[in-house]
Amino acid sequence: MELYQMTIHELHEKLLNKEVSAKEITDSVFSRIEEVEDKVKSYLTITKDVALEQAKLADEKIAAGGKVGPLAGIPTAIKDVMCTRGVRTTCGSKILDNFIPVYTSTAVQNLFDEGIVMTGKTNMDEFAMGSSTENSGFFPTRNPWDLERVPGGSSGGSAAAVAADEAVFSLGSDTGGSIRQPAALCGIVGMKPTYGLVSRYGLVAFASSLDQIGPFTKDVTDCAIVLNHLVRHDPMDSTSVKIDRPDYKEILINDLKGVRVGVPKELMAEGIDPKVKKVVEDAIKVLADNGAIVAETSLPNLEYGLSAYYIIAPAEASSNLARFDGVRYGYRAPDPDDLMDMYMRTRTEGFGDEVKRRIMLGTYALSAGYYEAYYGKAQKVRTLIVRDFNKAFEDFDVLVSPTSPTVAFKIGEKVANPLQMYLSDICTIPVNLAGLPGISVPCGTVDGLPVGLQIIGKALGEETILRVAYSFEQNFNWSEKPKLETRD
Ligand code: GLN
Repeated sequence: MELYQMTIHELHEKLLNKEVSAKEITDSVFSRIEEVEDKVKSYLTITKDVALEQAKLADEKIAAGGKVGPLAGIPTAIKDVMCTRGVRTTCGSKILDNFIPVYTSTAVQNLFDEGIVMTGKTNMDEFAMGSSTENSGFFPTRNPWDLERVPGGSSGGSAAAVAADEAVFSLGSDTGGSIRQPAALCGIVGMKPTYGLVSRYGLVAFASSLDQIGPFTKDVTDCAIVLNHLVRHDPMDSTSVKIDRPDYKEILINDLKGVRVGVPKELMAEGIDPKVKKVVEDAIKVLADNGAIVAETSLPNLEYGLSAYYIIAPAEASSNLARFDGVRYGYRAPDPDDLMDMYMRTRTEGFGDEVKRRIMLGTYALSAGYYEAYYGKAQKVRTLIVRDFNKAFEDFDVLVSPTSPTVAFKIGEKVANPLQMYLSDICTIPVNLAGLPGISVPCGTVDGLPVGLQIIGKALGEETILRVAYSFEQNFNWSEKPKLETRD
């Protein structure tokens, strides 16, 4: 087994035993990047110099006998929506093509403090709007399981990087499914924590009431390890929660006895590919066979989740993206006639089609005459969804569903039909609307392409979903790997 194929916990062991150095691990991952990046295209920016410097520091610390945590010396890819001081941060947009932040986002800084090695910044749908990474202003990323297919999105680069062993783990952001859906489509673990658990300071805002940062990893243990270091109260983010976090790794036990698992029938309904549904049903059987108490349940307002999301998210985006005006950040249209011309041409030339569509939708929904009819109504639906979840969690410890209604689709298949694309997140969006934690774990394949099982928890119920995910992983024992080929 090559070093680049290993998990965080395996590499940490080797580092502590002085079997390998952080430099050797880093070299191994960069040799892998050289080998496969042309095919996969996970990265927008590769930061080899930064990585080698960080690896050197980690090795010095280990040699000096200093105490190093489990992330020291571990090659990590960061979605290009998190600010990194001195390193270009584009959000997948031409409008930020030349933007070099003067500060580092808290989530990334927390990992820097733990001694990670940053391999680079990963490709994404522009401003995290999309489900396939085809809305990147630069190029699409390819799914390592089938190079003609999408890796999912918007954090497609981060998911593909881990699936293709171009990073040991990565960070993504999830506003409506952008960590869980690409994790499912790429056959890895992806988690969206409870809203407010991970600081959003320095995460370029898409829809501030929904955005959350989380990890992509090769297994559930790694997910728990990364979460341990992402969760830290941050006075720079007014929504950052203050809790005594448990040690998420220590609580991982393989025990499902008596765990009450609810299956919302609305998330197993029409629209879910029957083959995906079958794989997920089999996965749920694994939970039941190992002692979980499984029952169907109903959350009747979930069916309005997608509609509410596509009012609320664009509304917040239209306001958040007003700052990209050619004055303060990034691209500015050349030779403007006057100020208005400069604003208009900068935004016309700098933003892609999907971003413009959302800005128009959101501006309309927030306009004086329509605010109550659209935004006000959508917020009420959001409250109903929150209530549905609260009610379900009186009877269940976790809820489970498919993560995505389909496996990875072909590049180009859905670009012409935004509504089809929006449906990719039908199972994940309600979780963001309610601010809850959700994790996707690989649970099998359909026609050789991976399927994800979504496990949803109560607010701050990370321990429970991690434990269920871990138990599932231990009992399911899935070890298929992508071959980086075109399948047909
Ligand atoms: N695909 C959804 C959207 O386009 C969710 C994106 C996300 O979670 N960032 O808005």
